[in-house]
Amino acid sequence: MKIEIQVEEICTFHHHAQWVNHASSWIGGFRKEEKIICIDKNGNTLTIGMDFRVAKEKDLFPVKAYRCIRTSEVSTPSKQKCMCGKDHIMHEELDNVCDKCERELS
Ligand SMILES: [Zn+2]
Repeated sequence: MKIEIQVEEICTFHHHAQWVNHASSWIGGFRKEEKIICIDKNGNTLTIGMDFRVAKEKDLFPVKAYRCIRTSEVSTPSKQKCMCGKDHIMHEELDNVCDKCERELS
């Protein structure tokens, strides 16, 4: 079956080597409560290295990585002044930088 979920696109792995070389820097820096999913061009999910190897063999790249939008993100939006100067959603009350800007800075 198919379902629809709300996501934010993080990056695209155009081929297997790109995933090998960049996965940890592109999708590794997220907090544990952020769910990152990798989807091949047929809409199937990749979770371990074997999946990416099969995707390579079966020509299922590009694989796109998404961050799933969480319930609390949209049901209790709390936009505050981010360090970047714009109003962004903060996940912790004491944060002064949103997750997205934090990733871009690090
Ligand atoms: Zn921000």
